[in-house]
Amino acid sequence: MKLEKIQLLGMTGEELERFVTQDLKESRFRAGQIAGWLNRGAEIGEMTNLSAALRGRLSELAVANPVRIMEAYRSKLDGTEKFLYALGDGNLIEGVLMRYHHGDTLCVSTQVGCRMGCAFCASTLDGRVRNLTPGELLGQVAAANRHIQRDDPARRVHNIVLMGSGEPLDNYENVVKFLRLVNDPAGLNISLRNISLSTCGLVRRMYDFAAEGLPVTLSLSLHAPNDEIRRKIMPVANAYSYEEVLAACRYYVEKTGRRVIFEYALIKDLNSDVRCAEELARRLRGLQCHVNLIPLNDVRERKLEAPGRKTVEAFLKRLELKHISATVRREMGADIEGACGQLRRKVLAGQATGDK
Ligand code: SAH
Repeated sequence: MKLEKIQLLGMTGEELERFVTQDLKESRFRAGQIAGWLNRGAEIGEMTNLSAALRGRLSELAVANPVRIMEAYRSKLDGTEKFLYALGDGNLIEGVLMRYHHGDTLCVSTQVGCRMGCAFCASTLDGRVRNLTPGELLGQVAAANRHIQRDDPARRVHNIVLMGSGEPLDNYENVVKFLRLVNDPAGLNISLRNISLSTCGLVRRMYDFAAEGLPVTLSLSLHAPNDEIRRKIMPVANAYSYEEVLAACRYYVEKTGRRVIFEYALIKDLNSDVRCAEELARRLRGLQCHVNLIPLNDVRERKLEAPGRKTVEAFLKRLELKHISATVRREMGADIEGACGQLRRKVLAGQATGDK
């Protein structure tokens, strides 16, 4: 059986030092040299200030970045890039890089697949395969940086949204370790204030997360104005009530001083008429928040569709009238299967079944 290799990119500075001094029996300063290369997304073979012999020993035990960009598609409409990443065990995940005026924003996946079962989401159709490791979370950022720096060395991922496939709070420890590592001044040094974590509302974990003291923006996938509608599309709504989710959001606002973003996918004939907007505004009154309206991305496997443009506009107007801050999310990368989980499914469907 092949032994799994150590992922250097997911190690803290201390863990890397211990590995270098104890496992490799090398002096401590090598750890600093290796870390410098890891931040640039280099492979072990490229670490030219290490001897060939050391590189050889290192390659037997470890990989630098466990994530590799297998395919990249660039939107002709807005420059958005979609990545299909390959992991060491052959699993595939997706990422999207969006170019905003406030900097490049990378959408990061946290699990292979997802077990939350939301009715409108492509990522959950085959359930959860496994959690991503801290190295695989960081690896997505390092691989994206390396990819964009080929054309423009000054570019780098500036903002991160944990909104790819998977439920971040269902992979809690790895995600928290990733957040600390990605923020490390000796590492990729991305400000936590430039990071959003999106959850379907795992209430217990939301309280744990608030207690971590990380100034990350919380996005909550609400998608309904009440329990009755939410339970039709989100199984997690059977575990935690609407009020419990909102109470956890209020607690997060109190603890971090940051407003919460509510994601609300507008679905035809389900949650998008003005009565729903009225009820939503009532429920959110007094909460420091912003509502992000997303006309549903059609998923071929599901029967749910987006409402028409007029319905979307009327919903937005009604929220504004009730003094709820809201915007309709601009669609990015419409020509490259920009929405989560869609590209991976397309590729998996096209692959021969025997090659896994
Ligand atoms: N599991 C986390 C993060 C991943 S999904 C969460 O639930 O928040 C990122 C966002 O995309 C969530 O708000 C999710 O509900 C939304 N989403 C999933 N499928 C969608 C679709 N077909 N159309 C619009 N939004 C969708």
